[in-house]
Amino acid sequence: MRVWAATHNAHKMRELSVLFDGAEVLADNPAGVVEDAPDFAGNALLKVRAVASRHRGEWCIADDSGLEVAALGGEPGVHSARYAGERCDFAANNALLLERLAGVEDRRARFVCAMAIVDPDGRAHVVEGVCGGRLAESPSGSAGFGYDPLFLPDGSDVTFAEMGDSEKNRVSHRAKASAEARKVFEKWR
Ligand code: IMP
Repeated sequence: MRVWAATHNAHKMRELSVLFDGAEVLADNPAGVVEDAPDFAGNALLKVRAVASRHRGEWCIADDSGLEVAALGGEPGVHSARYAGERCDFAANNALLLERLAGVEDRRARFVCAMAIVDPDGRAHVVEGVCGGRLAESPSGSAGFGYDPLFLPDGSDVTFAEMGDSEKNRVSHRAKASAEARKVFEKWR
């Protein structure tokens, strides 16, 4: 089975290749898609439709994900990628988040992943995965990407960035959404 993944993020690709073990996962960059939907599902659909228009009759997926921080009313949310500005990097996003949470006791946060799927008949599906946790006071670890160095998933004293791929893939928002996506694949057959 072959699946086109609408992403240019090499880290996401690495995770998706493991999560969809047994399938050939290929990347197609949805460059030019303006992610202006109000929620993750809407943005995932925008990306998957762009890529599906190039691979008719094949499976396509797009993951749109982000971090929701309770004390910030759910921010950065859909703005997770560009929290610190248009041309920011992961370190700048993490620094801004820590700044906004300085002195804040409530560190609860959750990662959300909406995965949009277009099946070989051209029908769209959306599934979701959520991973609850809390934010550390400072970054730790060098694996992963994005907010991984700050995020301690529920039940863990180490961040996603300290865990490495296989442990993160057991509990992450992307792992949960991928498990739901697999059900969509299986139902279609
Ligand atoms: P997207 O590529 O538009 O889905 O943006 C996702 C953004 O959310 C990334 O740039 C990261 O900042 C953040 N993000 C999503 N998933 C993860 C994750 O698994 N670890 C860390 N940060 C993530």
